[in-house]
Amino acid sequence: MTTPLVEMDGDEMTRILWKMIKDQLILPFVDLKVEYYDLGLVKRDETSDKITIEAAEACKKYGVGVKCATITPNAQRMTEYNLHQMWKSPNGTIRSIMDGTVFRAPITIPTIHPVVKNWEKPITIARHAYGDVYKNSELRITGPGVAKLVFDSADGSHQEAVIQEFKGAGVIQGMHNTDKSITSFAHSCFKYAIDTKQDLWFSTKDTISKTYDARFREIFDQVYQEYKAQFEELGITYFYTLIDDAVARVIRSRGGFIWACKNYDGDVMSDMVSTAFGSLAMMTSVLVSPDGNYEYEAAHGTVTRHYYRYLQGEETSTNPMATIFAWSGALRQRGLKDGLDALVGFADALEAACFDTLGEGIVTKDLVNLMEGVTPKAVNSEQFIAAIRERLERRLV
Ligand code: NAP
Ligand code: MG
Repeated sequence: MTTPLVEMDGDEMTRILWKMIKDQLILPFVDLKVEYYDLGLVKRDETSDKITIEAAEACKKYGVGVKCATITPNAQRMTEYNLHQMWKSPNGTIRSIMDGTVFRAPITIPTIHPVVKNWEKPITIARHAYGDVYKNSELRITGPGVAKLVFDSADGSHQEAVIQEFKGAGVIQGMHNTDKSITSFAHSCFKYAIDTKQDLWFSTKDTISKTYDARFREIFDQVYQEYKAQFEELGITYFYTLIDDAVARVIRSRGGFIWACKNYDGDVMSDMVSTAFGSLAMMTSVLVSPDGNYEYEAAHGTVTRHYYRYLQGEETSTNPMATIFAWSGALRQRGLKDGLDALVGFADALEAACFDTLGEGIVTKDLVNLMEGVTPKAVNSEQFIAAIRERLERRLV
């Protein structure tokens, strides 16, 4: 390796898996160069969360990071970890510094059939993570009156529109988005489509929302002009359609594309799509910034329940697949950026060794009831990782 990978360690069961993965599947095979950041809750508290900001800055500097799942503190964690403050979600902090979009995609295997039987390839959801209903102002009104939308511009001009002339009680909501954020979202989506050589779908409701949603569509159309030639060269397409049409087409599709969604649509649709594909433990996640920086992780959390069992000395069968794929994704991206074919080759071999293992029916407990066509053999996390290592060694000779 020539450029370091930004390594962000995390919490609980995934921190245990993290070390196993590094020791068994990475360090014996790769001359690994990393800049290490411990984003475990203890360290975040010790540094007043500065470590998270430094890690995000490092991702911007070097271009590729890999992150372990981390605890987002709540009231219960405040006492459990004796925290000085209820620190913000590390993912939120990193996302706002990198200004990125999160792409979530399932790891699919032939022996786990999605609920939707015609889905043959993964469907990647890109959720716009700024604004709309997540940053709204709401009012409950108790009687008749006029609700208006008012904008007082910094240049002194004034715009207003009537929302409703109320005859009785009701509710009002104001929300917004910015050209800047929508533009960043569009760049991340087009870049990731090119990177993964997949078609990009985008959906809104611009027939109903003729200004707000229409602005999303316009910005995507404009930004697409910068990527059109590359799309044509790769034989991939950008496709805009209405959200309800998109939902119908997604269900009928064979998969194998990226579906870019507005904030609320992405929130809802990503849970639907990931559940239909099978298991949270098989869902990967990558944050892509509009200037082409990447942060890879698993979509699941720190698997607290397994960790408490682990602390009691019990054996756990936690699935490391999504975390392994975070590593392979990051190493492949590093290899591509630095022109290191051997590193790209290793990432491919690591993923292939995972598929070999699952293909032979060696699985963690969460997958046992999902497997069809093979008789699965459930093993613990250590045995599962050892089985992958054996197959990886065979592939690398
Ligand atoms: P979670 O860690 O994703 O686990 C929820 C349940 O899903 C687990 O109890 C387990 O079910 C199953 N599961 C998830 N990943 C699995 C895996 N790799 N192998 C096997 N089973 C798996 O979600 P959570 O319990 O709601 O959250 C725990 C902590 O993670 C919280 O502190 C939260 O803040 C944090 N979190 C972090 C991130 C992130 O860093 N990206 C994302 C989400 C949550 P069974 O117990 O039934 O086996
Ligand atoms: Mg949600």
